[in-house]
Amino acid sequence: MNRPLSQQAFEEAVRYIPGGVNSPVRALRAVGESPVFIDHAKGVKLTDIDGNEYIDFCLSWGVFIAGHANPVVEAAVQRAILNGTSYGIPTLVETSLAKKVTELIPSMERVRFVNSGTEAVMSAIRVARGYTKRDYILKFEGCYHGHADHLLVAAGSGVATCGISSSAGVPDSFVQYTLVAPFNDKEAVNHIFEEYGDRIAAVIVEPVPANMGVVPETDGFLQHLRTLTQQYGSLLIFDEVITGFRLTLGGAQKFYAVTPDLTTVGKIVGGGFPAAAFGGRKELMSMLAPEGPVYQAGTLSGNPIAMTAGLATLSILSEEGLYERLNAKAATFIAELQGILRHKGVVINSVGNMFTPYFTEQSPRNFQDVNKSDLAAFAQFWRHMFANGIYLSPSQFESNFISIAHTDTHLEQVLNVANRF
Ligand SMILES: *Cc1c(COP(=O)(O)O)cnc(C)c1O
Repeated sequence: MNRPLSQQAFEEAVRYIPGGVNSPVRALRAVGESPVFIDHAKGVKLTDIDGNEYIDFCLSWGVFIAGHANPVVEAAVQRAILNGTSYGIPTLVETSLAKKVTELIPSMERVRFVNSGTEAVMSAIRVARGYTKRDYILKFEGCYHGHADHLLVAAGSGVATCGISSSAGVPDSFVQYTLVAPFNDKEAVNHIFEEYGDRIAAVIVEPVPANMGVVPETDGFLQHLRTLTQQYGSLLIFDEVITGFRLTLGGAQKFYAVTPDLTTVGKIVGGGFPAAAFGGRKELMSMLAPEGPVYQAGTLSGNPIAMTAGLATLSILSEEGLYERLNAKAATFIAELQGILRHKGVVINSVGNMFTPYFTEQSPRNFQDVNKSDLAAFAQFWRHMFANGIYLSPSQFESNFISIAHTDTHLEQVLNVANRF
């Protein structure tokens, strides 16, 4: 597979954009490649500017659960765009999407829309601190919550690949209220609460950590966090920027039957446009200006085109039995892929339709386990798949996603390519 035009495009891009990319993992450095430039996408097929095709399992980092350029979303957006694209004045579609989100995720009694997951998390934490009048937050190693200063501590995703635990440009004093514990480690969390419990505003967690690759909770870890936070008067924040509308319509909180105080959603909720949201109980969300003293705002927040795309996406996902079929299809595929790759020393972690192959002996339970994975072997595997038209998420520290647009034929093709690895 040749990519002369992508190569040329990259050389041009690096002259104007740091690393040639607007988000680091796209540079493909973790897998020893140079970036591929996309011309268009449809369903699960990406076509690059050289005309090569790839079956996509990254799906814009989990956005396109209904496939790229879904006709329902596309038609809704095309209609909406004729009316102007932003006013900085309320529109009906903002309420429609807010209503839909609160119906699907009932713990989000009130929601506010923002432009990115980063903003949603930043704002949810501000609400938690404003409400509890406490400063500390507790996060978990390998969990990624966007690139806000005080969360760039032991973070996953691109931060993990770059090998920076705390980014340059973030003063130590900015992260002094950020406590970190290993995921799935109840005892470590208990110890932190014994010392800081009455000063912890919130515990923030990805209910399915997916930014160190997929690492499922074990032994009721999420329920433990729920119980402990309640005991100490701290809030529990589920960062469902990936998992919201991914495993079930009701998010990971429905999947695990653990109800947080505040939730962030992103990726899927914007239907391919820059939108995310945070929400929770009415009394918490009433802390926000103009009702309360916690300031939060955005020029393009609740953008009508993004809201339209999100609403169209959620309407597609509301089809009866859709998640049961999707997750069943995923389970069969993942089991077959695991069968093929086992003798290569690969274990696949998965939850529903999210999965990550690790080059380790044992299924990782936390970030320390993840870091035992053979990154060179992962990169080799990724390049093999890429060379054969399969675009997996380009780092060990990410999740892959199966969408309703992946057909049995697509999945068989992947198994055949994996078989030749
Ligand atoms: C992607 C992601 C974010 C950040 O969202 P952006 O839209 O990239 O700012 C936050 N939390 C989680 C769990 C994510 O996966």
